[in-house]
Amino acid sequence: LIQIEGVSKSFGPLHVLDRVDLDVYAGEVVCIIGPSGSGKSTLLRCVNHLEQPDEGWVKVDGEMIGVEVRNDRLVELPPAELTRQRTEVGMVFQSFNLFGHMTVLENIIESPVQVLRESKAKALEHARQLLEWVRLEGKENTYPRQLSGGQQQRAAIARALAMRPKVMLFDEPTSALDPETVGEVLSVMRRLASEGLTMMVVTHEIDFARDVADRVAFMDGGDIIEQGTPAEVLDNPREERTRQFLSRVV
Ligand code: ATP
Ligand code: MG
Repeated sequence: LIQIEGVSKSFGPLHVLDRVDLDVYAGEVVCIIGPSGSGKSTLLRCVNHLEQPDEGWVKVDGEMIGVEVRNDRLVELPPAELTRQRTEVGMVFQSFNLFGHMTVLENIIESPVQVLRESKAKALEHARQLLEWVRLEGKENTYPRQLSGGQQQRAAIARALAMRPKVMLFDEPTSALDPETVGEVLSVMRRLASEGLTMMVVTHEIDFARDVADRVAFMDGGDIIEQGTPAEVLDNPREERTRQFLSRVV
C-alpha cells in the first residue's frame, strides 16, 4: 500500500536519506528503529510529502504523493491536490499537535468538516465514536492543556482517524510521555493494528515492535540496514550495527 522507491534527501551538505526503498503492504505494521539522526522522521515525512524527496518517489495505494510525471519528469502537484492526498495519510507526531484553542471534539471534526466537507452532524457522530474507541468519552469539551500527555496523544490519534486514512504514520508517539501514560497510547495503537490498519511506526519501544510489528526495519546513516520479522531483526540481527544499537537501547 505504501511504496518508497529510491528516496534521497539532503539538507544542504547533509545527506539524510540515501536511496531508501521500502514497501508496506495492506494491513501491515512496519516499525522503524534506529539511532538519533539516522533519518527515520525524515523518511516518514517524505511519505506524506512534508519533506519533498530530492530523488525517488513515494506511492500510497498506487498514487504518487506530491508529484506527478510530466514529460518524463517529476513535477510538484498543486497544493489542493496534495491536501487531498494528505487526507489519506494520517500522521501522529511525538509532540502533541492538537489545536490548543479548540476542544477535543472541535479538534476532531475540524478537518472532516473543512477539508472533506462532511456535514457537522455526521462529523460529530463519527468523532464521538472515535473518542469512545480511544477511551476518551466524557472529554469532548475539554481543552488539550487540561489533558494528560497520554490523553492528548489518544485525542491526536482520534483526530487523524477522523479523516478515514488509508495508512497511519506514527513518529515516536510515546517518547514525550510520562511512563505511566505510555501504555494507554500503545494499547490504542495495538488495537488499530489488530483492526488491520496499515501503519508505519517510528519507535524506541522495542517490546511494542516485537509484539505488534509484522516487519521491523533498522535505519542507520540514512539507509535501511536490515529488515525482517521482529524475531529476525530484534532477536537475531544479521548486521553488527543493528546488534550494537539494540545492545544500547534494551
Ligand atoms: P531522532 O531519533 O532523533 O528523531 P531521526 O532518525 O528521526 O532522529 P531525522 O529527524 O530524520 O532523524 O534527521 C536526520 C538528520 O537530518 C539529522 O541530522 C537532522 O539534524 C537533519 N535534519 C532533519 N530535518 C532537517 C531540516 N529541516 N533542516 C536541516 N536538517 C535537518
Ligand atoms: Mg525523529
